[in-house]
Amino acid sequence: MFDYLIVGAGFAGSVLAERLANGSGKKVLICDRRPHIGGNAYDEYNSDGILVHRYGPHIFHTNAKDVFDYLSRFTEWREYQHRVLASVDGMQVPIPINLDTINSLYGLNLDSLSIQDFFDRIKEPRDSITTSEDVVVSAVGKELYEKFFRGYTRKQWGLDPSELDASVTARVPTRTNRDDRYFTDTYQAMPRHGYTRMFEKMLDNPNIKVLLNCDYRELQDEFFYREMIYTGPVDSYFDFRYGKLPYRSLEFRHETHDREVFQAAPVVNYPNEQPYTRVTEFKYLTGQTHPKTSIVYEYPQAEGDPYYPIPMPENAELYAKYKELADAEMDVHFVGRLATYKYYNMDQVVAQALTTYGKMVGEKRKAAATMQLGAAYTNGNGFRNLETVG
Ligand code: FAD
Ligand code: UDP
Repeated sequence: MFDYLIVGAGFAGSVLAERLANGSGKKVLICDRRPHIGGNAYDEYNSDGILVHRYGPHIFHTNAKDVFDYLSRFTEWREYQHRVLASVDGMQVPIPINLDTINSLYGLNLDSLSIQDFFDRIKEPRDSITTSEDVVVSAVGKELYEKFFRGYTRKQWGLDPSELDASVTARVPTRTNRDDRYFTDTYQAMPRHGYTRMFEKMLDNPNIKVLLNCDYRELQDEFFYREMIYTGPVDSYFDFRYGKLPYRSLEFRHETHDREVFQAAPVVNYPNEQPYTRVTEFKYLTGQTHPKTSIVYEYPQAEGDPYYPIPMPENAELYAKYKELADAEMDVHFVGRLATYKYYNMDQVVAQALTTYGKMVGEKRKAAATMQLGAAYTNGNGFRNLETVG
């Protein structure tokens, strides 16, 4: 018998399993339909012995000290500042667009002051910034928008930037200085021994049982539990009652090359000509030394495993209907990128899971107080069977 069934062993599920077991002494069953823990952050040594991220590059960055401190209990870190080049007009130039991007692209010699005048001349201010097109065009004008953002976004999302929420391209800033880091967060680092090792440490507790290759629906008659934490796609949990929530998928093409270095930066983005969006060379991320090098190409897809919620107004409306169902679901907590339909980075998912745990502990205290007053907290033997869910 378990206190909790946790569906999904990615960040959302693993943080909650760890907290409930180590923080509250609960018995936890965590299952994943994949053959491994770690969710999309899973990494592994390939057949050449190079550490790769099976589901594309995962770079940890956060401004939240509590999140960094929490994960630091399970891993040492390797300091790492991520850098990306974009392949545009036959050159590879820094993205986010910065002083060097503009000077290289246009053969100019601007400085931090004159580049502001340059942007002021080319930008096309908009009355309101609602879409992903508005964000970029109002900052750097149509030409740079078309070179760096329009093609990439259409490829990545299968939509024009004018259809997507502003928040999508707003993830990538514009700079007037020479800072070529992709992120500027206070904490930027990679787990020294990889993500999977970190997850193993999180789940290493006799009160946590891990079941892999296992869809939670297959467990129906096998186990009893009091509450569920669900981190899979929210529409699937409710059997698509209101129709499918759109998620964007990717196909990953992994390759290993018989040379030490493949490309000039950890990631090269291909906004325009290629069918893929970006190429990642893992050794930059991990710091591994090896005579060969492994890379991954990302090809966006409409169908396949759900990787990205698609931020746009009609999807938010549809999600709001599922959220109403989720809020009404007794003893089930919906957490994570797919279950709450949020384009969250890893640190945001960790923060969301820690907040959920805090609320659960608070709620529990209230529930216990209610029980003492004589009200029934659960029916019958106090356990819920999976069959009654969904
Ligand atoms: P997931 O990792 O998706 O875990 C959910 C798990 O639930 C999955 O393992 C799934 O198999 C399982 N599951 C679903 N349904 C069922 C079921 N019915 N039964 C059993 N198991 C089920 N974030 C960053 O911070 N930095 C990055 O650089 C970064 N790069 C990314 C690159 C790519 C290509 C992608 C797709 C994402 C990236 N992210 C990055 C985001 C990051 O992957 C997520 O924020 C994080 O992994 C979400 O964790 P999660 O637990 O919510 O979901
Ligand atoms: N983007 C773009 N060109 C780029 C990089 C990003 O148009 O060179 C847009 C694109 O819409 C992308 C979004 O900005 O989906 C967010 O980029 P990010 O690198 O954060 O995407 P992720 O790593 O989450 O896939």
